[in-house]
Amino acid sequence: MTDVVRLEAVSKVYGKGQGAVAALREVSVGIPRGSFTAVMGPSGSGKSTFLHCAAGLDVPSSGSVRLGDTELSRLGETQLTELRRHRVGFVFQAFNLVPALNVTENVTLPLRLAGERVDRAWLGEILARVGLEDRAGHRPAELSGGQQQRVALARALVTRPEVVFGDEPTGALDTMTARQVLRLLREVVTAMGQTVVMVTHDPLAASYAETVLFLADGQIVDTMSGPTPEKVAERMTGLGAWK
Ligand code: ADP
Repeated sequence: MTDVVRLEAVSKVYGKGQGAVAALREVSVGIPRGSFTAVMGPSGSGKSTFLHCAAGLDVPSSGSVRLGDTELSRLGETQLTELRRHRVGFVFQAFNLVPALNVTENVTLPLRLAGERVDRAWLGEILARVGLEDRAGHRPAELSGGQQQRVALARALVTRPEVVFGDEPTGALDTMTARQVLRLLREVVTAMGQTVVMVTHDPLAASYAETVLFLADGQIVDTMSGPTPEKVAERMTGLGAWK
């Protein structure tokens, strides 16, 4: 399988001198196309930094990040903005929807910001996929948390991104609703061939992925395929995560 995202010896240091913190230390990993990967690790292990560097939201101190054939360090700010707009999608813990816009308007916002026309058939397909066809005219305040996160997912998918990054996408949802969103994430991988990378600290959430990367002290210390909540929790305990 080809890698959609490839990190090669990526390090990230925050601050300088005595106060410098190495958030990532020479991380090398490939994310295969059409895979669902969860990133886990204790608090402060570098998960957010990993996600931000992989997604082009933050610039590594050294090393290389490639999205497809594009080396991110070669891009200027304008090109990076362009890349973030078209080639990657994001789903955050806070749904980040625009309250004054309805579902359709929220979902198509990335396209309209880029001055592109909206492919109605594709929009319909995505709204159906996330189960919101009959909510197209509703505002976020008229939707449940799970529905709002499904709008955010639809918005992340609308530009046909090469990869969707999730930062604790189910962190604000109750268990039942979280499961629905996780099933949906898995579905966009299996049914649409989408690539998803999700940071989480929840073993149940991680068990929906095919592969779990475990971070500790800024390094990938383990990889697990076919995770179960129990196996993931056990590994996290080994990393001292619940202390
Ligand atoms: P996680 O997401 O696993 O909790 P982070 O990637 O947020 O970990 O942080 C990794 C390390 O880098 C931590 O020690 C954190 O304090 C530090 N860090 C993260 N962001 C910054 C920043 N902007 N400035 C200074 N230190 C930071």
